[in-house]
Order: sequence, then C-alpha cells, then structure tokens
Amino acid sequence: MTDCLFCKIVAKEIPAEVVYENDRALAFRDINPQAPTHVLVIPKEHHATAAALAEADSGLADEVLKAAHAVAEQEGVAEGGYRIVFNTGPGAGQTVFHVHAHVLGGRDLTWPPG
Ligand code: AMP
Ligand code: ZN
Repeated sequence: MTDCLFCKIVAKEIPAEVVYENDRALAFRDINPQAPTHVLVIPKEHHATAAALAEADSGLADEVLKAAHAVAEQEGVAEGGYRIVFNTGPGAGQTVFHVHAHVLGGRDLTWPPG
C-alpha cells in the first residue's frame, strides 16, 4: 500500500523508534504515548483491521500476538500486567487503517476503558 503510514514505517520511509522486529512483524513506540510503555505492533504485510488480519488466515495474527508479548517482556511489563488493544473501526477510535496492536503498560490501567 503506497499511501499507508505504517507501510511507510515498514519501508523505512518514515522514521520510528523500533523496539522489536522479526521477518513478519514490527514494533515501534507510539508517537503519542498513553502509558509509560505504549508500543504499536504491526504485521509488515498490509491488512486494514484486526478482522481482516484474522480472515487472512496466514498465521499472521498469531505472529502479531507473539510479538506483542515479546515486547511486553522486553519492556518489563509482562509480569505486572499489560493491555493489548486493537481499535477496530472508526467507532472504536481506529485512525490508522493498517492493523496495529497497542501494547500498554507501566501504570495501573483502569476498566472499563474510555
Ligand atoms: P488508532 O487510533 O488505534 O488507529 O491508533 C493509531 C496510533 O498511531 C495512535 O496512538 C497514534 O498516536 C499513533 N501514531 C500515529 N502516527 C504515528 C507515527 N508516525 N509513529 C508512531 N505512532 C504513530
Ligand atoms: Zn499499510
């Protein structure tokens, strides 16, 4: 996708603070962090939403979840607890339509979310 912000980050056309990378997934710090740890984990392949990713049926959704946990371990929030959020669709606040897991931790996270 030529006009996708996160595809451009994958292609290194736009800079990002990458904290984890493997052949299928990339993780980088959110530019507007909502918690001490706020990392976005994306598949390198373009899929618009979590639903589209799940439907792709390529094992890629698993890879994204595994990468999210690896990030949580690396950031030191895995033991205390962290949150993985996929905002899916505009009504849920999705603004970038390249699926991304928000990995949030490092502070007490309240429930229900806003
Ligand atoms: P969402 O609203 O769930 O689609 O999340 C999009 C997220 O991308 C927001 O938390 C933004 O702060 C973040 N974001 C937007 N542009 C960038 C960027 N260039 N680098 C890192 N994070 C970004
Ligand atoms: Zn994309």
